[in-house]
Amino acid sequence: MIVAHPDDIEVHWAGTVARLVAQGRLVAYVLATSGNRGIADPAKTAERLAELREAEQRAAAAVVGVTDITFLRYDDGDLAFHVPQLRADVTRLIRQYRPSTIITHDPYPGNGSRDACAIYPDHTTLGLTVFQAAYLCAPSPLCEPEQVRKGLPIHRPEVLMLIMSQEPDVFVDIEPVFTLRMQALRQHVTQGRDRPEQEALFRRITGELGRRGGYRLAEGFRRLAPS
Ligand SMILES: [Zn+2]
Repeated sequence: MIVAHPDDIEVHWAGTVARLVAQGRLVAYVLATSGNRGIADPAKTAERLAELREAEQRAAAAVVGVTDITFLRYDDGDLAFHVPQLRADVTRLIRQYRPSTIITHDPYPGNGSRDACAIYPDHTTLGLTVFQAAYLCAPSPLCEPEQVRKGLPIHRPEVLMLIMSQEPDVFVDIEPVFTLRMQALRQHVTQGRDRPEQEALFRRITGELGRRGGYRLAEGFRRLAPS
């Protein structure tokens, strides 16, 4: 599970994570940034904010039973300037973890999307970089060959599940874990996710996805499985 910022997971798919963990699936989080610029508070340094947000992310992960978290610590907002190194990092992690499924951002969230969150460059850059790493780089011994020489085996994930897509085609029933999902989201205090109105907001968002998927409350993904 590879996302750009702390709280991307809890906003979009923590309910799905809770269900996967309950089924006994191994889930690991990778965060490309620690959200070190994600607040308008001059009293906090970027370093302090990153510490706070990493702690919030660990607490949120613990709520749904995830303890394996990697922070790559790129600067918030700068992923587009670090694509070669970012792709090498993601390739290494794919070769280490050997996932069958990766959940990440949709690099093409929709034609003419006006969803500022979905078209935020960190999200689209990371989605495209993960796609390249998963299907071009990690399976090829000629890409990042020093990783292979050091003993990491090549690997090709079977499926990418894309979040923030305007065209979701897979829906997960999260009604049984909605309370747990909100408890995870509330850990992101620096982002105001502990405010009472968040519950109504996410009942509406997951309710709209649920109507599209045939559930009362759902999370939605676009499935990508290149042949
Ligand atoms: Zn984000």
